[in-house]
Amino acid sequence: MERYDVAIVGGGIAGLTAAVLASKAGKRVVVIEKQNRLGGRAMTNRKEGAYFNLGGHALYKGDAYETFREFGCSLQGGEPSIDAFGIWNGKLSVLPTSVSSLLASPLLSWRGKLEFASWLMKFPKMDTRNYDGISLRDWIEGNIKDPMVRHVFYSLLRTASYGMAPDLQAAGPVLRGLASAMQGVIYLDEGWGALVRELQEKASREGASFLTGTNAASVLHELGAVTGVVLDDGSSISAEHVIVASSPAVAYKLVPQADATALRVWKEQSIEITSACLDVALRKLPMPNQQFVYGIDRPIFLTNQSRAARLSDDGAQVVCLIKYQGAGSNPEKDLKELEETLDLVQPGWRGELVAKQYLPKITVCHDFLHVRGRVHPGPNVPEISGLYVAGEWASHGELLVDAATASAKRAVRHMLGSGIGEGNSRNGHRVVI
Ligand SMILES: Cc1cc2nc3c(=O)[nH]c(=O)nc-3n(C[C@H](O)[C@H](O)[C@H](O)COP(=O)(O)OP(=O)(O)OC[C@H]3O[C@@H](n4cnc5c(N)ncnc54)[C@H](O)[C@@H]3O)c2cc1C
Repeated sequence: MERYDVAIVGGGIAGLTAAVLASKAGKRVVVIEKQNRLGGRAMTNRKEGAYFNLGGHALYKGDAYETFREFGCSLQGGEPSIDAFGIWNGKLSVLPTSVSSLLASPLLSWRGKLEFASWLMKFPKMDTRNYDGISLRDWIEGNIKDPMVRHVFYSLLRTASYGMAPDLQAAGPVLRGLASAMQGVIYLDEGWGALVRELQEKASREGASFLTGTNAASVLHELGAVTGVVLDDGSSISAEHVIVASSPAVAYKLVPQADATALRVWKEQSIEITSACLDVALRKLPMPNQQFVYGIDRPIFLTNQSRAARLSDDGAQVVCLIKYQGAGSNPEKDLKELEETLDLVQPGWRGELVAKQYLPKITVCHDFLHVRGRVHPGPNVPEISGLYVAGEWASHGELLVDAATASAKRAVRHMLGSGIGEGNSRNGHRVVI
């Protein structure tokens, strides 16, 4: 039986972050990933020379960005301009995303413009922790007076969080997400797959091993302590610590007697966020000035990521469209709506089409901070020593990939315990957690 200090189930961003950190701390680490390649939802598909993420991905300047920078990742790409349009009543209008575009926007009255401008100024200084306990709707309705400014805020906050549940979403994390997006985001050259490669290289250099195409079947534990992981082929890996870096449902399923642990609560309280994503590579844009569009009266978003990043080998423009899905979804209807949006924004796009990817319903978050009395999952499973969870759903108030990296850091920090730092690091690296 192979022996490791740490077995990590799941080779997405959370698993890879944990792998870099634990191996830097001198631990013998193995990452078990069921797919044939690493990355999970951060993988990139290459089609006809175009790089498609699994739906449009933007790196905010939050925990993940800081973590990747500390790891020394190159994060090549660029910051897109925020000159935006809004769709309202089937028409495109300039959207106020900055003080300068505010004057030009026909969407807001003068009173609305003044209110919007004051929010743009207040936003970066706001203490959003005060709003972790109230719903997004309560925050918007209680704080924003002008009805059209409210519509614009619903749209901006939906895009920052991917959520379509303002009555459930806790306001604080979503407001933080928007504040972070307002500091500028990065679109990565060759997509997030390039980042995944770098993380894998860094973990490998520190000595981590990877088992791809390998499904973990269960986590072994005895007398309240983890002993290893059983794989689908019946073989097992012995490990002192196991970090499950996949979904709450997978973590629950993998652990025998999970009903007697916090894993049950974490699974039961989880609420998914999904979206439909249409990505197209176009030889050229029929309407080059219309590259960034928020649906104000519909839950849709469009961005040409090629305006800031190299996403094709031959200059094709990669345009990403997202339909935020609420409780119900209809793949054909969603596709039609996304294509109609492209007809409006880039009329004649079909004649320029090089490649296309449609994901009818992809899970963006397995859970988020909601107001139904949610407890923060992880980092450790209190009933089983040596067992931890990580992943975007194990959020303690962070959003999206920031929650993936923050939860991975919490898990590794807990695992290492206090007092283990530089002295234990391999290759003389400082432990960055
Ligand atoms: C459409 C879309 C758009 C997004 N846009 C953004 C964005 O703009 N900005 C942002 O910050 N974030 C964005 N995200 C979110 C971001 O992609 C995720 O937060 C992040 O990739 C999640 O990483 P993870 O490691 O938590 O989970 P995952 O990537 O899901 O990784 C979990 C891994 O576990 C593996 N696994 C599961 N079960 C097993 C098993 N039994 N054995 C072995 N392996 C197993 C899976 O195959 C998977 O690779 C977006 C996500 C989507 C879907």
